[in-house]
Amino acid sequence: MPTKNFEELKATGALSTPPGVGMEILRITSNDGCSVDELARCIQSDPSLTARLLQVANSALAGGVRPCSTIKEATMRLGLRAVRSIALGFSLVSAHRAGGCDQFDYGVFWAHSLARAVAAHVMAARFRIGVPAEAFVAALLSDLGSLALATVHPKKFGEILTSPESATANGRAVLEQTHFGIDHREVTSSMLIEWRLPEQFALAAQQLGAATPPTGDRKKGPGLSTLTWIATRFAAAFILPNDKPLEEELVQGALASFPDWKKENLSGLWTEIAEGWRKWGNMLEIVTSVVPPYLGGMQTKARVGCPLLVMDKPHTKTSPQAPAAPAAPPAPAASAAAPVTSASQAATPNATTNKNQARILVVEDDRTSAKLLMTLLQRAGHDVTLAFEGGQALRGAMQSLPQLVIADRQMPGMDGLTLCKNLRAFEAGRRIYFIAVTAEESEDKIVEVFDAGCDDYVVKPFKPKLLLARVRAGMRVVRLQERVDADKATMQRHMAELGIRERQLQQTAITDMLTDLPNRRYAMEALKSGWELSLREDAPLSAIMVDIDKFKRVNDTYGHDVGDLVLKETAKVLSTAIEPPNCVCRIGGEEFVVILPGGNGERAKELAEQLRLAIESHAIKGGNFDGHVTASFGVATRQAEVANFEQLLKIADEGLYRAKQGGRNQVRFVQVEGPAVAPLESPAAGAAH
Ligand code: GH3
Ligand code: MG
Ligand code: MG
Ligand code: MG
Repeated sequence: MPTKNFEELKATGALSTPPGVGMEILRITSNDGCSVDELARCIQSDPSLTARLLQVANSALAGGVRPCSTIKEATMRLGLRAVRSIALGFSLVSAHRAGGCDQFDYGVFWAHSLARAVAAHVMAARFRIGVPAEAFVAALLSDLGSLALATVHPKKFGEILTSPESATANGRAVLEQTHFGIDHREVTSSMLIEWRLPEQFALAAQQLGAATPPTGDRKKGPGLSTLTWIATRFAAAFILPNDKPLEEELVQGALASFPDWKKENLSGLWTEIAEGWRKWGNMLEIVTSVVPPYLGGMQTKARVGCPLLVMDKPHTKTSPQAPAAPAAPPAPAASAAAPVTSASQAATPNATTNKNQARILVVEDDRTSAKLLMTLLQRAGHDVTLAFEGGQALRGAMQSLPQLVIADRQMPGMDGLTLCKNLRAFEAGRRIYFIAVTAEESEDKIVEVFDAGCDDYVVKPFKPKLLLARVRAGMRVVRLQERVDADKATMQRHMAELGIRERQLQQTAITDMLTDLPNRRYAMEALKSGWELSLREDAPLSAIMVDIDKFKRVNDTYGHDVGDLVLKETAKVLSTAIEPPNCVCRIGGEEFVVILPGGNGERAKELAEQLRLAIESHAIKGGNFDGHVTASFGVATRQAEVANFEQLLKIADEGLYRAKQGGRNQVRFVQVEGPAVAPLESPAAGAAH
């Protein structure tokens, strides 16, 4: 049923589709023989897409591994499938920043999707689940159906969003079924399948709104669905932290299914995701906010016990409706009194229009003084927010990022100086100009004020003219900093553009032009870093040398062109059969090497045998040639007696020599089982084939 309705939805022609490059990627990769080169060329036509893709490819690298500098390298490392998914995902983000549905907050949608993506990415890397970059995209796109419905049916979908039943994701789905015959989750799955993204993406999307975490495969354990499910809980807590704290018990329960998880790791994970969210937000130009550190149960307590922060003037107008909470559990309608209601509202650091106007947060427990201060500052044209308690001020400040904070030194709970210290612990908090209001003017007390990280102070009772002058002085510093930041951003953009040109050159340097495989130079580098990593992590590393049999005869009999064709065809057979993290390179005329990071001797022998069969059975037609070639294989693995990667290659070469001597078209492993490193090989591993 959903399929039929999805077809109808598609027929409207308004469905969210990836723009230009995205469509081209879909087209190129729709036939099975798509070459890495073709895909890389297409992606590189979009510089920002290239930069973003490389960023995600490099962001979960184990130490010591050289970062990829070209799309082609990223493709070799991550695999064609992952690169295709990432490129599609990113091209989609840039295309749908706004739309015709007034009630759908596109900014919040992407902020939420990005938080989910970053959370999935961080966890995939931490728990070693699949390719982290792919988890990023799976989570990023896992509520695409909501965006699609907003695009295709802006009016009706807007009505659904504002109806009280939409307070829960299930309630919304029922309404969508009634009106469209399909709900946002089904649309998501159908779109992901339509774009031939991996099946697990659609499965993960379907389980996003489940009340309890998906347990994953019984044999393989938790996977992408579990990651995406947890990631969505983090995202929900990031977007509306004061209304909806992290569902700690559920999240801890789900995280417990990953080996080595410790409960106390939660706050570190929270911080890593929060920081990643901001970083990625800057890069993808998605508005995010600063997330305060995770305080666990304390967060909940503070929320209930403290008076709410009063927002006298929100920075930007927010839609009256709750932001569309992507398939996550229902987001309660944002309370008008909440300090920050949406990420789009939060992240308008430069929203003040008047040049002399500042966004100021006043923190003062004494309500009369607070009012006085606020009136004074508002009369001077500033945009003022009030908080009556340090803890609330901290949370509010980290999200709404005022340019200036004026805080009373003495307050019950978190005092002004502690508030300042806490703010200074964060990159964004360090940029805020902080003025302490103090009742005591003794030398020691003033020194304390500056030592806490404050920029200035005023003495209570303050003189209005003096206070306003100090605010103006503070704003000069703030504006200067803002200018520096803007210049830095421009500079980074220029650097990124330069980087692309350099990458193009680098790519040529590591690619074999005939076969498009990585060349000898790349192979040696990959072996070197693979060797170092394998030593450091005490993990296996193997290599397979491959040499086409009697290749000279092909050249002599059918001509050099046919010889070239045979090389290209063989390269294709090899690269199709090899999946990351393994890689195959052409290191000489008709010689190739396969590198298996993490693969032991047994695994390498198995793979070599698969490759041997694949080459032998692959029919090649060209010129007068119509037949098959065969190849010989030598396998080597890192054991105690192997001193370095050069020696590893030598041993593989020795195996290859024996294979040739033994009659060609065979696999040889010449090592005797030694004090093996990492997983012990089976006794059979010592015997030659
Ligand atoms: P064996 O089974 O012992 O490996 O015999 P072989 O003929 O494959 O080995 P040999 O090393 O004698 O010959 C390799 C040939 O590969 C010689 C060289 O002309 C050819 N060759 C090297 N590079 C290229 C190339 O890029 N294109 C073509 N067409 N031939 C190449
Ligand atoms: Mg006080
Ligand atoms: Mg040779
Ligand atoms: Mg040969």
